[in-house]
Amino acid sequence: GDCAYPHWVTVIDESSALQTLSTVFGYDQFRGDQAAIIDHVVGGGDALVLMPTGGGKSLCYQIPALLRPGTGIVVSPLIALMQDQVDALAAVGVRAAFLNSSQSGAAQADVANRYRAGELDLLYVAPERLSVPSTQDLLDSAPIALFAIDEAHCVSQWGHDFRPDYLTLAHLVDRWPDVPRIALTATATHETHQEILARLKLTDSRQFVADFDRPNIQYRIEPKNAVRQQLLSFIRREHAGDAGIVYGLSRRTVEETATFLQRNDINALPYHAGMDAQTRRATQERFLREDGLVIVATIAFGMGIDKPDVRFVAHVDLPKSVEGYYQETGRAGRDGLASTAWLAYGLADVVMQRQLIDKSDGDLDYRRRLGQNLDAMLALCEMVECRRVGLLKYFGQTSSACGNCDTCLHPPETWDGTVAAQKLLSTVYRLRHERRQGFGAGQSIDILLGKSTPKVESNRHQELSTFGIGTELTEAQWRTVARQLLARDLLAVDQHGALVLTEGSSAVLRGDVSVQLRHDPVVVKPAKSKSGGAGARKARDGDVIDLTDADEALYEQLREWRRARAKQDGMPAYVIFHDATLREIARRRPATEDDLIGVSGVGDKKRANYGADVVNVVANN
Ligand code: ADP
Ligand code: ZN
Repeated sequence: GDCAYPHWVTVIDESSALQTLSTVFGYDQFRGDQAAIIDHVVGGGDALVLMPTGGGKSLCYQIPALLRPGTGIVVSPLIALMQDQVDALAAVGVRAAFLNSSQSGAAQADVANRYRAGELDLLYVAPERLSVPSTQDLLDSAPIALFAIDEAHCVSQWGHDFRPDYLTLAHLVDRWPDVPRIALTATATHETHQEILARLKLTDSRQFVADFDRPNIQYRIEPKNAVRQQLLSFIRREHAGDAGIVYGLSRRTVEETATFLQRNDINALPYHAGMDAQTRRATQERFLREDGLVIVATIAFGMGIDKPDVRFVAHVDLPKSVEGYYQETGRAGRDGLASTAWLAYGLADVVMQRQLIDKSDGDLDYRRRLGQNLDAMLALCEMVECRRVGLLKYFGQTSSACGNCDTCLHPPETWDGTVAAQKLLSTVYRLRHERRQGFGAGQSIDILLGKSTPKVESNRHQELSTFGIGTELTEAQWRTVARQLLARDLLAVDQHGALVLTEGSSAVLRGDVSVQLRHDPVVVKPAKSKSGGAGARKARDGDVIDLTDADEALYEQLREWRRARAKQDGMPAYVIFHDATLREIARRRPATEDDLIGVSGVGDKKRANYGADVVNVVANN
């Protein structure tokens, strides 16, 4: 009894979604909530989907767009990536196109004609285009399967990616009340979640909140001392030849770090907002197309980059919020293979971030919010327990110790730092309240260590009662004490970077509370070798295939073939096949094209296009 549906609605059962998944995309099962989401949207329902990066959001609107009559309209802020998205869809036989300001008039007219003729399964549109009357008229000229609002957190005015054009998307429901809307994002604190629902008028939609864990990413945070050197040895020891992203806060850091890596034979390029648009585009292109390129970037780089084989994301400066950190690190390991999120941070980061907040425009409320974001990030950095538990808790999810983060792998030791804290705080007290002077952490540490520097002598700081009372710790140890006190708001900095006491300081000084500090790890051991080790290779869809030496050789030949073929076809290598697919092929050694059926990532179109080549490479091995 399908009579409840208008005659033109094809009533879909789950098996046709599953069939599309396998014949078009080459995957044999849905992940997590994908099946339920697809079912709901195909049935005409609105949805909000919160899923971590790499979780598989795209299929949640692509498959419904294929199954419902009409064209799926995808709203995306990522204009620079639209061509790649369309190419990747073409590679699996999906008819897609885009409309944005980068196109010529002729190209736009061509897309419009194909849309009117019903020849498009998916149409990607920049948000600013949707409010233009001519675009709306165009959309009215043919049936719309659904609206997908990608990167939906861009509607959040508090967020780090706010786009004013997103606010106008609330009107979609007024003009097209019967077209299902699905909003998707990887950013998911409770606040952002509520804001998306309200601003996009999706309060009646069904909400799907996925598990935010990314088990294949190993989280590591280490103290900063010589950060470039630390970064270099991290890359050399664990990710030589891998693709990765290094984030820094300033253009200068980005430039200098990229140059340093280049001098040390790492294939690295800078990317920041100060570069012209063309160079930025070329850099992004190269990152997508070349194997093993490292991009050193300000946060302007990477949103929506769906390069699946980014093996590491490194931060050489402290991120401003856990939300931003999780988005950025989430760009590693979308293919489900082992990847690393590495962050180095130190005392100077905390001082700088606190100052930035003090100096920022915006009202008190806004600055308070920034302060809370930073506090949460610092708490994560100073965690003694599992980092993943801390991260997931931030997103309102509970989990148990993961075995694949630095604190799980090398549990940090704690020590009673109460006396050390009192010594440092009372030095600050004396400087500020007895001498009415402001100094940074370095001066207090010199005083504690009893160093007669010119700055100490000219200020007669050797006369302070705390002079020389801290020789039981090294300078480096004092810096970690200062950093941890700052991180916990037991100490603060003023606009000039000078240390000041906080409300919490007095309880410590009086001895009312004790202060447990963590020892900075002396050596940070590298993760396991690439081929294995507990935890390091946790993959999403079953285990990563461990190859024999002979299969490994074949895998390398398949990669070589893929590289050549990608170049010939002018597309990124991963659009042809992911590494995981090539590994499975190397193990299975298909003798015929039919033997490729069931290999994850090989749908009908790719089998037809590349099957003969692949069988050939295998036969000649
Ligand atoms: P997101 O947009 O959430 O970051 P994507 O949609 O880009 O994630 O998916 C991440 C990767 O996972 C892609 O390479 C995609 O092809 C793959 N993927 C998605 N769903 C499945 C599935 N059901 N089975 C296997 N691979 C999948
Ligand atoms: Zn852990």
